[in-house]
Amino acid sequence: MANDTDSSCIFCRILRGEIPSKKVYEDEYVYAFEDIDPKAPTHVLVIPKKHFAGLKEAQAEDAEAIGRCHLAAAEIARRRNIEHGYRTVLNVGPGAGQSVFHLHVHLLGGRSLSWPPG
Ligand code: 5GP
Ligand code: ZN
Repeated sequence: MANDTDSSCIFCRILRGEIPSKKVYEDEYVYAFEDIDPKAPTHVLVIPKKHFAGLKEAQAEDAEAIGRCHLAAAEIARRRNIEHGYRTVLNVGPGAGQSVFHLHVHLLGGRSLSWPPG
């Protein structure tokens, strides 16, 4: 399953099993794992199995992967009983806090979440 991965990308290395991760969910399109520095009782990262840097760089052909990441987040939230209120977040660009340039959906929940975010 190492197709479409980038040799220097940390999340591609997680996909290839070169860096350990705590797996939460996996299907044909996506892989989900616990964030190493959780910001909420549930803080899961959902990533497409195909490497692309982020939403800015996404192409029309990536639409299904992006949608599948969100559907996987919804399924994880259902399984964890956090459906009273959770948040899915894409940080897009360094100015919004993006630090890993392989698209990832943050799933945050298990506590109350204020709005607007910082
Ligand atoms: P960003 O800041 O790009 O939106 O989110 C990157 C996220 O990846 C951060 O929440 C950070 O804690 C997480 N992260 C970075 N490196 C690793 C890692 O090696 N393993 C895991 N599980 N999470 C990581
Ligand atoms: Zn990658």
